[in-house]
Amino acid sequence: MTISPLMPVYARCEVAPVRGEGCYLFDAAGQRWLDFASGIAVNLLGHGHPHLTAAIQRQAATLIHVSNLYGSPQQTAVAERLVALTFADTMFFTNSGAEALECAIKTARRYQYAVGHPEKFRILTFSSAFHGRTLATIAATDQEKLRSGFEPLPDWFRVLPFDDLAAAEAAVDESVGAILVEPVQGEGGIRPASPGFLKGLRSLADRHDLMLIFDEVQCGVARTGTLFAHEQYGVVPDIMAIAKGIGGGFPVGACLATEKAAQGMVVGTHGSTYGGNPLAMAACGAVLDIVADPAFLAEVQRKGERLRAALEQMIPNHPIFDHVRGLGLMLGLKLRADSRAFVNHARGHGILTVAAGDNVVRLLPPLVIGEPEIREAVEKLSAAAAAFHLPEAA
Ligand SMILES: *Cc1c(COP(=O)(O)O)cnc(C)c1O
Repeated sequence: MTISPLMPVYARCEVAPVRGEGCYLFDAAGQRWLDFASGIAVNLLGHGHPHLTAAIQRQAATLIHVSNLYGSPQQTAVAERLVALTFADTMFFTNSGAEALECAIKTARRYQYAVGHPEKFRILTFSSAFHGRTLATIAATDQEKLRSGFEPLPDWFRVLPFDDLAAAEAAVDESVGAILVEPVQGEGGIRPASPGFLKGLRSLADRHDLMLIFDEVQCGVARTGTLFAHEQYGVVPDIMAIAKGIGGGFPVGACLATEKAAQGMVVGTHGSTYGGNPLAMAACGAVLDIVADPAFLAEVQRKGERLRAALEQMIPNHPIFDHVRGLGLMLGLKLRADSRAFVNHARGHGILTVAAGDNVVRLLPPLVIGEPEIREAVEKLSAAAAAFHLPEAA
């Protein structure tokens, strides 16, 4: 047999961490990397954060799991906090981002069904979006690498150019019941939507009674310097999917909705065995204790500006770098070369980053980074760039 015990769907790199401490990861031999990937925007408190670790340890010793058939004071407590902090009136807890999106899509579908418009089943989505790896969420994107070999996929989605309001307006017909968008595209290349686009989608949704769904799985939970990215746009969704950072590394997600949007989600329409179990809720509660603090959010904004300024100063020194974009500590370094090759190369210089579409290197540090880590990151990226051989122009 030649297949590995792990299904070979990832091109796993040579880094094999066994331990983390703050903003650093270590392998078994003690080699150290500065972690500007954070498990792809997950470990927002870094590694081994005492408050998160203690909360999980305490809950693990008390009660790890009970079924959603029973009452859950742990879920209610976290939900009440998120209701108080957001537009939402209600929520469903999941184990991942894709599941949060599945719930968001089902909530939008059930809304149109409940108000007597089951024919409004179609959802507008946008080019280069990433919403997960389930069959519905790969149907929601035009990214060929995600869809290839899985077609035919459900044709419930119409993929339109991102940030093009006129295209969205033109696409609304009798079959459209919802719009799904990342306020800041992550995987697609750290592309913040323009304010006019999100505001325009809100007004389009209002005019046609469409559900506006925000996918804040990557850009949400303090990453951009506000608890959710849409707060900076002054635009409120009807439904929002979150995950990644909310558990600080524990697998958890949620679909948040207004009372109106969730009116079709009655007993029996959805469920999850693990979703929102007490251990997951302990992690969420501990993360919120820290990141929902306005002083913490202001620090994320300040550090994001500081990192961006340091990167902007570095860029002219290296022909490989084009520009920096993004919001808060969700930054993208646009390259004039293949970003995957550079991310691989930069690992050898002791820094972990993540490649994204459009030849962008994602910089997604733990939100607890300090000035020394910002300086070290820029030094390492600079050293990596100096040693990187740009391919000859064709
Ligand atoms: C990561 C991601 C998802 C999928 O989350 P999983 O936990 O991997 O299922 C969905 N949407 C966005 C924007 C993401 O970044």
